[in-house]
Amino acid sequence: HVYGHITRENIDIEMKYFPPCMQHLHTKLRSTHRLSHYARLYYSLFLKDGGMHLEDAVNYWKEEYSKPHSCSSVCLHNWQSNERKFIYSIRHLYGLEGSQKNYKSPTCNSICMNISSPMYEGGCPFKHFDMNTLKNLLCLSLSDNKVTGLLQTISSDNPQAACAEFFKMLNQNRNDIVINSPLQYYLTMINQM
Ligand code: SF4
Repeated sequence: HVYGHITRENIDIEMKYFPPCMQHLHTKLRSTHRLSHYARLYYSLFLKDGGMHLEDAVNYWKEEYSKPHSCSSVCLHNWQSNERKFIYSIRHLYGLEGSQKNYKSPTCNSICMNISSPMYEGGCPFKHFDMNTLKNLLCLSLSDNKVTGLLQTISSDNPQAACAEFFKMLNQNRNDIVINSPLQYYLTMINQM
């Protein structure tokens, strides 16, 4: 069995093995210090199943949510004024509060569903992002030329197939890969390294 080993300390390096959807959320969180509800939920669960321990999760979110944020509409979410609520909700996702449910990290299908909130900054890049944003994101991992070539062959109608093509460009020995979830992408990727 393969387990992830994401920690608060290694996350900025480990994120190079994340699928584009989660790379995007990490980059977004680092730059804007906030994520909207579903983006935060999906990313938190991905990190949890990717091996991040509760204490690291609390400190990771605290680090970002303690920073000032420019967008007033989500500025209510500020660690200093809501610490108890934040810690409770993280513990809840780890199955330690409330119904103690074991929440699973999202599948590609759940990420590919449209979320109507205008604040939502997540989604599957291969399905929801415009060409330029997708290209910039993929260029975190591949050269400009390779990304341009890839974009000519993939379609937003089948985002998981597009993601598999991207994975294969990073791991040429994995011609059989089928992508089902961000977690499976990450675990397969680190298993190849
Ligand atoms: Fe993420 Fe799945 Fe989209 Fe790949 S296909 S970017 S793993 S949601």
